[in-house]
Amino acid sequence: MRLRNITGSREMIAANEYVIHDETACKGRWAEVFGNDRPIRLEIGTGKGRFLTELAAANPDVDYLGIEKYSSVLLRAVQKMEEPALPNLRFIRMDAEYICDVFAKGEIDRIYLNFSDPWPKDRHAKRRLPSRQFLERYAQILKEDGLVEFKTDNTDLFDFALEELKESAFELVSCTRDLHKDPLLMQGNVMTEYEEKFSSRGNPICKYVIRLKKAAP
Ligand code: SAM
Repeated sequence: MRLRNITGSREMIAANEYVIHDETACKGRWAEVFGNDRPIRLEIGTGKGRFLTELAAANPDVDYLGIEKYSSVLLRAVQKMEEPALPNLRFIRMDAEYICDVFAKGEIDRIYLNFSDPWPKDRHAKRRLPSRQFLERYAQILKEDGLVEFKTDNTDLFDFALEELKESAFELVSCTRDLHKDPLLMQGNVMTEYEEKFSSRGNPICKYVIRLKKAAP
């Protein structure tokens, strides 16, 4: 999602109280930042923030962080926070490539990837958020029993994501190619902006949940 550049969005994000500005200084200290020991869940590529805003309102016992690369997009997410502000939701404007500089080993309980950019050219495969390169980064920051949840309507990206798993430290927990017709996986589903748009056009939504493989005893 690349919204038209909004003049002053970078400055507005830099001054916003719901955006963490010194994220690398928080590495290993996120419990202190939130002021509690609750699980911390990340959405990478949070877009306009609807998914996390709904989750954070429904689950005050969990802390949420939304990571988004572009100020003009993130601005929409933080504007949602003003009505009313949620103490358990914060945002970071950064490229997720650097998440290992921001989170310590085991600091994250769950990672959500929702309708990630497909980067269709082969030479850009490593930029795809479910690529083996990103899975390697997720493995470094997740708790041992942490999960990654990935949703998309793009079947090529989903096929790619399933192939990448074979090259990773993760294993499949559950998988569907038609989430909205899967009563079990639909339990507690929170729609994202893209999910609403594509499912209303009749596109089936694919989803997987993965976890780290257990080390051999
Ligand atoms: N998750 C939202 C949804 O489902 O409605 C937005 C989906 S949009 C297609 C993908 C978003 O991911 C864009 O806002 C894009 O800027 C962001 N994004 C892509 N790659 C990223 C990266 N490496 N780090 C942070 N954000 C990224």
